[in-house]
Amino acid sequence: MTHHDDWSTTGFSTRAIHAGQDPDPTTGAVVPPIHQVSTYKQDGVGGLRGGYEYSRSANPTRTALETAIAAAETPSGAAPARGFAFSSGLAAEDTFLRAVLRPGDHVVIPDDAYGGSYRLVARVFGPWGVDHTAVDLSDLDAVEAALVQGRTRVLWVETPTNPLLGVSDIAALAELAHAAGALLLVDNTFATPYLQQPIALGADVVVHSTTKYVGGHSDVVGGALVVADGAAMPGGLQAPDGGTSVADAVAFHQNSSGAVAGPFDAWLTLRGLRTLGVRMDRHCANAHAVAGWLEQHPRVEQVIYPGLASHPGHELATRQMRDYGGMVSFRVGSEEAALEVCSRTRVFTLAESLGGVESLIEHPGRMTHASVAGSALEVPSDLVRLSVGIEDVEDLLADLERALG
Ligand SMILES: *Cc1c(COP(=O)(O)O)cnc(C)c1O
Repeated sequence: MTHHDDWSTTGFSTRAIHAGQDPDPTTGAVVPPIHQVSTYKQDGVGGLRGGYEYSRSANPTRTALETAIAAAETPSGAAPARGFAFSSGLAAEDTFLRAVLRPGDHVVIPDDAYGGSYRLVARVFGPWGVDHTAVDLSDLDAVEAALVQGRTRVLWVETPTNPLLGVSDIAALAELAHAAGALLLVDNTFATPYLQQPIALGADVVVHSTTKYVGGHSDVVGGALVVADGAAMPGGLQAPDGGTSVADAVAFHQNSSGAVAGPFDAWLTLRGLRTLGVRMDRHCANAHAVAGWLEQHPRVEQVIYPGLASHPGHELATRQMRDYGGMVSFRVGSEEAALEVCSRTRVFTLAESLGGVESLIEHPGRMTHASVAGSALEVPSDLVRLSVGIEDVEDLLADLERALG
């Protein structure tokens, strides 16, 4: 296929490996080069080659990632979504919120959202005059009641959530958001585009912390926004170019605020994206085995994994996702016991973050979710969260057996 060929009807992994990643036209290099450069020679004033002028505005390595992640999130056969790569997941979120919110606006956010997303909405946007309501997204009546016609601009969805793995109905939430004149954003970090395609279910915007599964190797921090074709600014708000396109507004803000992904970070993230499908298959298989094993363990009081029949969102997850993901949370009865388990594993590394090839264990209450202690988003103190990696599953089970004693 040549540069302009269309990967939109190919399968997920074919798109992740090829979209935006044609062999280099001058050398034939099969992997996009790292364009470690800030500026570009012009052929006469304004004579840009391929539109490149300055690397905050655009850089070819970043373009490759933006094209590939947009293709990965575009439902098969649908009009192409537009992708934007940032220096972190929170930078992507911040850019999106600035593009579509004004003082006086309102956001509905899940009551178990990722702590950093909640902090951004509550403590950064709050002082700029944006207020929010935190609700349980699995309660559609509560969501409907929280949406304020003419004032709520964004319904923020995370499914499955971090760390309680709540599952919510993207299609039903999209209908509620749109009826209230709000945009539906889905944080697809946990599921990844391989397991869940929010745009096919009605989402306007998808956000990723590509630091997690998309990067996949715990070696780069990054974020991405993918905007569905045709997504329009909420509440009749104008994009800075006078139009109504959310993608154009995000493009303007990405360049104006400048929290872009650097070339090497974009290259690493793109390298991860190519193997996302095969890695997720193994993450899911291992997580399923770990969750089933924990459920039988006498010291474990509750296992939270959408793939278990005991999970309240199991049926919905089966409908909405290809598989159930690599995250497993469980409760052991007391904070003391949880801290002890976290300190005794050897294969599972005690660390924040998730989504890498190596297994991680953490205590959300004292670690990733310490910033939401005392708020509506506080998590149980006996909760342990696992990011199940792609090691050999027998070694993971033996490690947990040792740690649970
Ligand atoms: C990590 C994470 C974020 C924030 O992304 P950073 O890359 O750390 O800025 C947002 N949402 C979810 C679900 C996350 O796990």
